[in-house]
Amino acid sequence: MRALAFALILLSAALARADGQLKIVYGPVTSKVSQDIADGMQKSGGMEMLAGKLSGLFMLPRDLPIVFTDCGVINAFYNPDKHAIIVCYELMEHFTELFAHQTAVKIANATELGKMVGQATMFAFFHELGHALIGELGIPATGREEDAVDEFATLLLVGVGDVGEQSALGGAFWFILEAAQRGEKPPVFWDEHSFDLQRLGTIVCLLYGHAPEKFAPLMARLGIPDQRQKRCTLEFPKKQQSWETLLKPYMKVQRAEGWQ
Ligand SMILES: [Zn+2]
Repeated sequence: MRALAFALILLSAALARADGQLKIVYGPVTSKVSQDIADGMQKSGGMEMLAGKLSGLFMLPRDLPIVFTDCGVINAFYNPDKHAIIVCYELMEHFTELFAHQTAVKIANATELGKMVGQATMFAFFHELGHALIGELGIPATGREEDAVDEFATLLLVGVGDVGEQSALGGAFWFILEAAQRGEKPPVFWDEHSFDLQRLGTIVCLLYGHAPEKFAPLMARLGIPDQRQKRCTLEFPKKQQSWETLLKPYMKVQRAEGWQ
């Protein structure tokens, strides 16, 4: 009986510890541009709302701060020692530059540009969230973790509807532009990430697998052959199932109920 009581205490302690929350933290800024981005984000409260939703989905062993800050480099990353996701304002500045100077699509005004930057940032954030869940929950990632979390980000985003799809497309657009900017320079074969255009391919393949009719024109525009498109429709449910199996023990509610 005492053993059972002890086991129950341990279990309740474990459950209590699994109520970690995502917390939005605004770190120091050193430039006017970063300050403007930070002000805009704080005013909208969008990240706080998203953090609340995600906290309601996953059982985390501890709080997971999401820190927006100046880093001195263009980056976003999960820090396993600090148990935190860091999103550098420099990454958002980089997106602003990248999108403002491209010629593929017409951007009407600053609001539209800001929206695109927000979408790409959202993709980067969900990519890092994938790393964080792997790290915090100790779930396995076979194959290349970078590819796995690109898939995670896309799968989670397409589950949110139009807004999420737009963020996944923001990620796709980011990788097209990085590849274009690289020009003839060969990509680094030993990098932990796949090549930019492969990362683009991963995102659009899942988007197509999720909604073939909606994304068929995009696949055609990118010149992705029918044979590959068919495989995308087969891969989408498999990838979704894989992540659901991995995350199921750590979900507070079923995906469809909790998210939408
Ligand atoms: Zn990564």
